[in-house]
Amino acid sequence: MNRRLLGFLVFALVLVGAEPQPISRSAFDLATAGLAAAEQQQDPTTITVYITRTGKKYHREGCRHLSRSKIPTNVKAAVERRYGPCSVCRPPTTRSSR
Ligand SMILES: [Zn+2]
Repeated sequence: MNRRLLGFLVFALVLVGAEPQPISRSAFDLATAGLAAAEQQQDPTTITVYITRTGKKYHREGCRHLSRSKIPTNVKAAVERRYGPCSVCRPPTTRSSR
């Protein structure tokens, strides 16, 4: 084997071997923090709601207004298509303020 290549390989191995603790530790912390943040604030726009073929409102699962038709979508898509939240089942909106 080429001596210079061997020297480089040893150098690289030393580099990798010297640093695994701090690197993997911070990566683990980052992943944990990201998971915690994702759990705490679920994006309301990804929640499944239902629209009807004729109505102008979107609904939660099981709303009594969903007896005729029930088309699954999500909050973001429903709002973009100018559906409003039903006043009976009060589904989540894209705005957090109430
Ligand atoms: Zn409803």
